[in-house]
Formats: sequence, C-alpha cells, structure tokens
Amino acid sequence: MPTTPRFDRGHSDDLMSFLTAGPSPYHAAAAAAERLEKAGFRQLSETDRWDDTTGGHYVLRGGALMAWYVPPGARAHTPYRIVGAHTDSPNLRVKPRPDFGAHGWRQIAMEVYGGPLLNSWLDRDLGLAGRLSLRDGSTRLVTVDRPLMRVPQLAVHLDRSVSSDGLKLDKQRHLQPLWGLGEPHEGELIRFVEDAAGLDAGSVTGWDLMAHPVEPPTRLGRDRELIAGPRMDNLISVHAGTAALRAVAAPGAELPYIPVLAAFDHEETGSQSDTGAEGPLLGTVLERSVYARGGGYEDRARSFAGTVCLSSDTGHAVHPNYPERHDPTHHPVAGGGPILKVNVNNRYATDGGGRAVFVAACERAGVPYQSFVSHNSMPCGTTIGPITAARHGITTVDIGVPIVSMHSARELCSADDPHMLAGALAAFLEGTDAS
Ligand code: ZN
Repeated sequence: MPTTPRFDRGHSDDLMSFLTAGPSPYHAAAAAAERLEKAGFRQLSETDRWDDTTGGHYVLRGGALMAWYVPPGARAHTPYRIVGAHTDSPNLRVKPRPDFGAHGWRQIAMEVYGGPLLNSWLDRDLGLAGRLSLRDGSTRLVTVDRPLMRVPQLAVHLDRSVSSDGLKLDKQRHLQPLWGLGEPHEGELIRFVEDAAGLDAGSVTGWDLMAHPVEPPTRLGRDRELIAGPRMDNLISVHAGTAALRAVAAPGAELPYIPVLAAFDHEETGSQSDTGAEGPLLGTVLERSVYARGGGYEDRARSFAGTVCLSSDTGHAVHPNYPERHDPTHHPVAGGGPILKVNVNNRYATDGGGRAVFVAACERAGVPYQSFVSHNSMPCGTTIGPITAARHGITTVDIGVPIVSMHSARELCSADDPHMLAGALAAFLEGTDAS
C-alpha cells in the first residue's frame, strides 16, 4: 500500500473556497469547469461535430458538467472510469412573480427545492444567486453575495408551544423571506438583480434564482478538525472529483481507462431532467466520444461493458446524540475515511464486485474506508448510483463522505474525509489495478 496520500488538508481548505464559489448548481458546474480549463481541459459544444482528440474535454449544460480525458493511445472500445456526483442542494428558489408584501414588509415569493431541513433556513442572512436568461437568448450567472434577505422565526413569546411541541413550519406560509420595508412593486426584485448583474432594465426575461446563506464556510473545533459550511451535499464530491480528474489527467498522461467526471443537476428532486442522472446526457457524451474515436456500436458496447462508475454522494456519519438511528456495526464515523454504501434493496448500487474496486482504490491511495448500511427499520435514502447503473448498464458503486446535519443550510464534516475521498477517487480514475 502506498504511504504518501496524494491530498492533504490543503484540499479541504480549497473545498471551502469551492463551496463559496458554488451558491447555485450553475455556479458549481462553472467553477469545476474553470478549474479543469486551468488544467488544460477544453470545452466542447454539443451542437458541433466532435473530433475527439487526445486530451481533456468537457461539456457544460446548465448545472451539469461532463468532463473526460482521452489518454494517448486510447482505442474506440477503451472503457471509462467515471466519478458521478451532483451539483444541486436543497434550498429556497424564487417564484415567477416574486414581489409581494404585507404589514409594511417587502417579501420575496419562494418555492422549496428538494428536502431541506426547513428550520435551518430561519434567521440566516441570505444572498441570491443563479442564472439569468436574457431577451437576446444568452444566459448569465449572477450572485448577490451579501445579506439581502432573511426568514425570521416567530418569537417564542408568540408561540409558547414551540418549546413543548417542537417547531412546525408550513412551506407556503412560513418560508417567505423579507428583504425590506415599504410597499412592494411588481418587477422590483428582477430589476434589482439586473442592476446587480450590470444589465439594462428589461433585459432579463427568465430566471433560475435561489437563496444561499452568506456566512462563509469555516474550520471548527478545538483543533479545527471540522468543516462547517453550506452545500457539502454534494459539492464535497464535485470538488473531490474535479481535483482527482485534474491529478490523473495531466496533459500526455498514459492511462488504461478514460477517466470521467459526471456532475449532474437535480438529484435532490429525483434526477428527471435534461441535466439530471436520469436524462441521456452522460450516455450521449460517452457514446459520442466512442464514435469520435472512430468506433461503432460494437465498440460502444465493449467500452460500456468494461466501465465502472463510483457514484459519490454524502452519507450519514453517526450522530452522537442519536446513535440509535444507525446500524450498530455499520455506522461511519467522521474522520474515518470515505464510506462504501450498501443496500441490498438497490437504494444503492454497490455489490461485492463494486466493493472490491473501491477497496483496491482506497488501498492504492493509502486511505482508510468504512461501510455504511442503514438501520433495518429506517428507510434508506437513494442517490444517482442506481439510476446510472440501470440507465446505462454500467457497474456502479455508491460511496461518499460521512457528514452530519445533511440537508441543513449549514452541514458539518471532518476536515480529513474530503481529502481522503479525493485520494480514493484519483486512484480509481487512474485505474492501474487489475480489478
Ligand atoms: Zn446528495
């Protein structure tokens, strides 16, 4: 087993910059693409003809990023090694007619995206970020990264039952942020955003805007051995996958497989979209790459049959205040290394063969690993792994980093697990093992 891991806590510090750079899926995908550009990857347009030459390529579609590196000597049937992840996180998103208000407050109409811990969005200073669609057909990313709005919690004096019965939130009535005083005016939020983006009034005709907490990620704990921050689910994996791909795909690097990063949008809402794992994006990119290398259907089938995907998403570290929620012998601990997720009812795609591939990668990387199986009486969550396996017929293994407070506006993990994940992913992509 190699003894010098490729990544260290510097990776985890860089993760905090990446979390800040990705307040929306569009920003996260673009931030990952920017890092790959710096490593020599070049963007391909989906509407162009692809001449898939040796080197790094990527496709950016909305909040999804597909990136791959064709090593010198790659054949048309060379299999892929894929790291899968998702760019989206649960949050609050702006409705089409956002401007309203009551009782002297100006408010913004929001819809709940995915399954956030609703209470975690209360009493936080929120900014706004997302994608603007312009009258001329172009799109633009925008970020208002300052305290702009807030969802205030009701004072305990006005709801004494909160102490005995717990907090009950109604998604429609209780999660509309306020952003000022006075009478609301139709169109004023988008006019404000146009200003923030340096655009002329009336130039924005469509938007995908969402709230984000503006408090930056931080190192936490007596010895700063923890990281607290937003959107760790699942930007930890997008960031680690990007770093791993960069590490193994230096220009000219010879590899037995074609390493791929597949970062999808819309995992939190079921992956059914043109940029989600259930859509054709990944399969189309992989097939086009086979054909661009001069292959036909037979080469595509041979390539896919030898392909393996590590689907990386966050998992649940055991919570010291709720240990009974975990299986007593399969609960990952924070700082114990990346986790292998197993569910025999196919909520995760891992099987024994997949486990062997992951174990080999961890051993080559010199990082420990842990196993996660849900408590038998708790319903198990799912992720993009089973979707990828079923849609493309690709051997898939579900893995990830253990965190607590999953789906909170501010999650928590060890400062060591992210860099150990990146090491395992790099060793997997490099694929020098026989498995
Ligand atoms: Zn996730």
